[in-house]
Amino acid sequence: MRKTVEDYITTIPDYPEPGIMFRDITSVLQDAEGFHLAIDEMIRLLDGLDFDVVCGAESRGFVFGAPIAYALGKPFVLVRKAGKLPRETVRQSYELEYGQATVEMHTDSIRPGQRVVLVDDLIATGGTIEASAKLVERLGGQVSKIIFLMELAGLKGRERLARYDVDSVVIYP
Ligand code: IMP
Repeated sequence: MRKTVEDYITTIPDYPEPGIMFRDITSVLQDAEGFHLAIDEMIRLLDGLDFDVVCGAESRGFVFGAPIAYALGKPFVLVRKAGKLPRETVRQSYELEYGQATVEMHTDSIRPGQRVVLVDDLIATGGTIEASAKLVERLGGQVSKIIFLMELAGLKGRERLARYDVDSVVIYP
């Protein structure tokens, strides 16, 4: 039988802490067919959508976002952790379970009115991608859709992103 993306994902119990089921995408990437399938399935989530820019969240959002942008002939824009972009940026902080994180984008990376697809490998609580969406909007962009390879539905990230169009290839309960 043909393999699905889910077949290539490895689940590691109790990593990085007891009680966490870590979904590992390195096993997807290190298999040429798995990687191809993952990108193709993510692209399929964008069927029929008109948009201008693909934007990926550091760092696994780069791994999936860049090939999607390349395949669809769109520019690729980076949301990076604070302090890594060399030119003028906008910053957005968000809460983590313990503490805070900050993400940044170059101010010239999105022009007002551009329609943006946001990409990350996985949605847990949705905090990372919500902060990324806010950055896009602060630059005048419109978030057309947010896509993930994997979704941990139990953490209810989708509720946090209720005002956006959200889709994932593999949904774990
Ligand atoms: P969120 O901000 O709570 O939605 O967490 C999402 C971020 O944490 C993503 O950028 C993921 O790369 C990372 N992450 C959280 N849990 C996992 C996991 O089980 N596997 C891989 N990455 C994870």
